[in-house]
Amino acid sequence: MVKSWKEVILKEYPRLSPGSKFRFSCRKGLSCFTRCCGDVNIFLSPYDVLRMKRTLKITSGKFLQKYTLPPILAGQKLPMVLLRMKNDARKSCPFVTPEGCSIYEDRPWACRMYPLGMASSKTSQRTDGEEFCFIVDEESSCLGFKDGQEWTVAEWWKDQGIDEYNKKNEPYKDITLHRLFVEGKGLGPAKSQMFYLTCYDLDRFRKLIFNSSFLKRFEIEDEVLKEIKKYDEALLDFGFKWLRFSLFAEKTLKIRSDVVEGKMKELGLDSIE
Ligand code: SF4
Ligand code: SF4
Repeated sequence: MVKSWKEVILKEYPRLSPGSKFRFSCRKGLSCFTRCCGDVNIFLSPYDVLRMKRTLKITSGKFLQKYTLPPILAGQKLPMVLLRMKNDARKSCPFVTPEGCSIYEDRPWACRMYPLGMASSKTSQRTDGEEFCFIVDEESSCLGFKDGQEWTVAEWWKDQGIDEYNKKNEPYKDITLHRLFVEGKGLGPAKSQMFYLTCYDLDRFRKLIFNSSFLKRFEIEDEVLKEIKKYDEALLDFGFKWLRFSLFAEKTLKIRSDVVEGKMKELGLDSIE
């Protein structure tokens, strides 16, 4: 049986620790400059999309429509969002220019990590397993490995702003590693749509909160409401709580007492004190 990439990496790739050293410099002037910014699968996390749409000053809906492939919402565990490459001969990334990445400060996690990758044998947040860094492909045509600057893995992460991305993506990762998904269950089409909207289409999610009956159903502090109205990061954090409430029935949001009372009356039960 052919091994998956994940199996190959877990079995064969050397594990790097924060102190492991490697040599790498990606710079203009190398004959391979920008060659890697094309014909590549780049999965985007919710925080990647937040940063990219913000720097491009467009709505999340416009970003998703213009720069990502339509997500497959049914038939897989969770919706995946992939950056859409252009239709030219090199299948170029829409953000590559002769000068390099035009959204460099807000480039996605995967572009920051390169030439490092992350692999994990964990199947849930609670199970043991290793999570480790590895060098993606030292034998490739990437010239950055030749005569590059010496880095430790920790130095590279700091230089590339990886810690901030990991921190922002942690609640998302926790959700994707929930036992429901680990046991192989996926989301049905409606929940898949909701997951996609909440994680990726933040501007529409904000509208849903403020222009629907959402606020009539949940008790949300004024301070939190102010924050999620104004800041995408706060909205995304709130979205993760909403997902845990709606997908896993966790008590991350509070239903308003009048809604609960109404429901109890409907069911012919006494009202709560
Ligand atoms: S050095 Fe490597 S990462 Fe940099 S442009 Fe060349 S191929 Fe891409
Ligand atoms: S987002 Fe930037 S760094 Fe990433 S592939 Fe596109 S041009 Fe290259």
